[in-house]
Amino acid sequence: MTEIFTGNFTQQEPIPQAGIRAANAVMEHGRLHRYNVGPGEISETVALEEEFAAFLGAKYCLATSSGGAAIATALRATGVTAGTPVLTNAFTLAPVPGAIAAISAKPVFVETTAALTMDAEDLAAKAAASGAKHLLLSHMRGHQPNMEQTMALAETLGLTVIEDCAHTMGGMSCGLPSGRHGHVAAFSTQTYKHINSGEGGFLTTDDAEIAARSILLSGSYMLYERHAAAPPAEVFEALRDVTPNVSGRMDNLRAAVLRPQLRELPDRVRRWAVLHDAVEDGLKDNPDITLIPRDPSLVRVGSSFQMCLFDWPPERIERLVSGCLARGVELKWFGAPRAQGYTSRYSHWRYAGSARLSATDRILDGLIDMRLPLTFDEADARLIARIISEEVKKLASVPA
Ligand SMILES: *Cc1c(COP(=O)(O)O)cnc(C)c1O
Repeated sequence: MTEIFTGNFTQQEPIPQAGIRAANAVMEHGRLHRYNVGPGEISETVALEEEFAAFLGAKYCLATSSGGAAIATALRATGVTAGTPVLTNAFTLAPVPGAIAAISAKPVFVETTAALTMDAEDLAAKAAASGAKHLLLSHMRGHQPNMEQTMALAETLGLTVIEDCAHTMGGMSCGLPSGRHGHVAAFSTQTYKHINSGEGGFLTTDDAEIAARSILLSGSYMLYERHAAAPPAEVFEALRDVTPNVSGRMDNLRAAVLRPQLRELPDRVRRWAVLHDAVEDGLKDNPDITLIPRDPSLVRVGSSFQMCLFDWPPERIERLVSGCLARGVELKWFGAPRAQGYTSRYSHWRYAGSARLSATDRILDGLIDMRLPLTFDEADARLIARIISEEVKKLASVPA
């Protein structure tokens, strides 16, 4: 019997009841803007920033309107201006080079390893060739390098490191929460990430000046004293008149929806591990599938699954994607000639004008990607793996 999967790959869990109640309360009192507070009131946004800083163990936290806004703010706050070269992953999501382009800086893409992380040797080479002093390190799809080694290399190269933790919120590297190794970290609360407010993000740092500059940049209208996870007012004094107000704030409605989800995050990470392990377990014995190796120092958040079909011709991968889709399993492929929906690669971002990266190309040409929403259970994950494995077997025997 041919098994079919009937789950929905883009269906999130509902907002927890506590979030719905808190959001309703915000709508009832009507003070949706983060700085619009009644006497003695702590806005939802301010409370969320304190809770996220505590969750991560960071000194300072700023909630933003998106992950992309958090990244662009972090870049500006660390001194990136028009024309500045910024090293970043060739394998990442479009808002990452987009944030660099938003401030007219120049993305310099670095090669990708088989673990889907940034290649350290190429990082050193590209840093030397470009003269870049900024590294925007994107932990795309939850794959992080060993962060102690990466930070040691970055220090040797004199790089300021901004971690893009959109897919690692709740994960760890070398015993620290993801985002705690670099100078600044950016997170997203966009609907497909680990906590969901539709749109939104965070910036975290331990550096008082970067934090103050980020708050001013995010559009604080000189109300920076209303922040709690922020440095004292003196730090703002020298910056307040020379930093532009680039609106990208979070509002109280989204913050209200996020606070109960943040409390659930450790449990979500455990549930994602169950789903991800079940898919990997179901595919590990298939000789045509290469699973992605993982640094043992890592706690990965398994909110999506990747695998590689090395050296498969494009037509065969297209047949696999359509064969799986016919059985209800939605795979994405990074090897398509043009960007499709959320799936794109460095060569599609033509504004960045990158030279070809042969190691990245070999991997992305065979890279398959799949969402694992928490509305799936372990039995779903096992069924999905059976379907993928059968479809791969069917096609692997077809001559190229
Ligand atoms: C989602 C995402 C971002 C930020 O996206 P926004 O939609 O701007 O919140 C950044 N990096 C990666 C890898 C992402 O997946």
